[in-house]
Amino acid sequence: MKVIVVGSSHGGYETVRGILAAQPDTEIQWYEKGDFLSFLSCGMQLYLEGTVKDVNAVSYATPAGMQAQGVHVFVNSEISKVDPASHSVHVIDHATGDERDEAYDKLVLSVGAVPFDLPVPGHDLANIYAMRGRDWAIKLKAKTVDPSVKNVVVIGSGYIGIEAAEVFAKAGMHVTVIDLLPRLLSLYLDQEFTDILTKTMADHGIYAAVGQGIKAYEGVDDHVTKVVTDQGEYPADLVVTAAGIRPATGFLKDVVDLDDHGLIKINDHLQTSDTDIYAVGDATLVPFAPTGKDNRIALATNARRQGRIAAKNLLGENVPMPAVSGSSALSVFDYHFASTGVKEGTADKLGVKTASVLVTDTIRPKFVSEDAGNTKVWFKLTFDPTDGHVLGAQIMSKYDVTANINAISVAIQAKLTVADLAYTDFFFQPGFDRPWNIINVAAQKAAATLN
Ligand code: FAD
Repeated sequence: MKVIVVGSSHGGYETVRGILAAQPDTEIQWYEKGDFLSFLSCGMQLYLEGTVKDVNAVSYATPAGMQAQGVHVFVNSEISKVDPASHSVHVIDHATGDERDEAYDKLVLSVGAVPFDLPVPGHDLANIYAMRGRDWAIKLKAKTVDPSVKNVVVIGSGYIGIEAAEVFAKAGMHVTVIDLLPRLLSLYLDQEFTDILTKTMADHGIYAAVGQGIKAYEGVDDHVTKVVTDQGEYPADLVVTAAGIRPATGFLKDVVDLDDHGLIKINDHLQTSDTDIYAVGDATLVPFAPTGKDNRIALATNARRQGRIAAKNLLGENVPMPAVSGSSALSVFDYHFASTGVKEGTADKLGVKTASVLVTDTIRPKFVSEDAGNTKVWFKLTFDPTDGHVLGAQIMSKYDVTANINAISVAIQAKLTVADLAYTDFFFQPGFDRPWNIINVAAQKAAATLN
């Protein structure tokens, strides 16, 4: 069997790995239109802050390593057309200018997405950058040490925008984060958490300009100098846009079914409207466990699961994609937070009725001093007020307790209730934890509201 995999980020990489693990003698052709194989944007902040020194290290695969495993790797090679009738793709080699057709038995599309370019006046000025991919990573890195950059404006306060803001604040620049939504990180955390983080960010030179729409970028000599919103003007030597993404699916129109946003429609086996063409990653929707409906959750974790399952199915297995909870974590200066599932702030949009309890505690028993690592933790558990089913949770502390959120993700997937979680067995050791884990405490409080 000959499989063509398009795109070399998380979804493409995991598909190739999955095929190699199950049937290493499969003929695999792996195409990437960029000049670098498998750059992982998740590692961008680590590179920009200097924790990872070499941009090329932010990758899981090299062409030589994959070729040694029998994979035919093509970089600088764009798939510009797909012809399902003849089971072939059209390849443009951007290094040589050569073009050719290649036949496939099965095709996997992990074409992902590109940053949304706000269509406002001035969007083509110089020094408006994006936070995605190796090329932007290299350009942004140069700006972190450019003495002419004093004011940075980040557009969008999701986790990508906040990563960018932290990079430039740590580099000593004055940073403004603009968002249409009324709070920073509002799709990830409720207000009890974002109030604390917004103050922490302000203490470190990051200012929130929220509830504002971008009207224009203005500049001098073709270089951006200012961002104009419906409420103010913000000086900018550099703008970093992180205001959402658009699927890179223009070339798939009339090939497979796309939705109104250009996302590829797939079934629970990751097949598109053409059963020999699979699609995974940010260009698709994923089943969302708390609602049972498909949702757009652009995370590497989802792309990885989809890639592995697509590999199994195209090789003849029959594995449906499990529903996911949309779990993510981030550090903002001293704080570490994670969240999963539904938040109060996202419930309306998802059409879900919720109730929540917030527990604020110390991570260890009170007799353990702050010097010995005891510190505050905030944990919010969100559940269905009619039957107690767990729908989501958020956690934050200066100590890294984010992994607790994985337990809630399991609870959501397993359809557990707060009554189930109230007495679930979690370990205790005063050097780590309290006799009742904070999940037990919150679940007991939540269960009491249902009696
Ligand atoms: P993409 O990563 O978008 O990659 C698609 C690839 O396909 C690209 O390399 C592109 O050049 C190539 N391609 C597209 N069209 C063609 C074509 N026609 N021919 C050939 N090649 C093509 N997720 C997490 O879970 N945890 C994190 O911590 C995290 N951090 C992130 C930080 C940043 C700054 C960003 C931007 C994203 C982060 N994500 C994180 C999200 C994660 O990176 C994405 O969900 C993931 O990369 C999606 O993978 P993908 O394979 O769908 O597509």
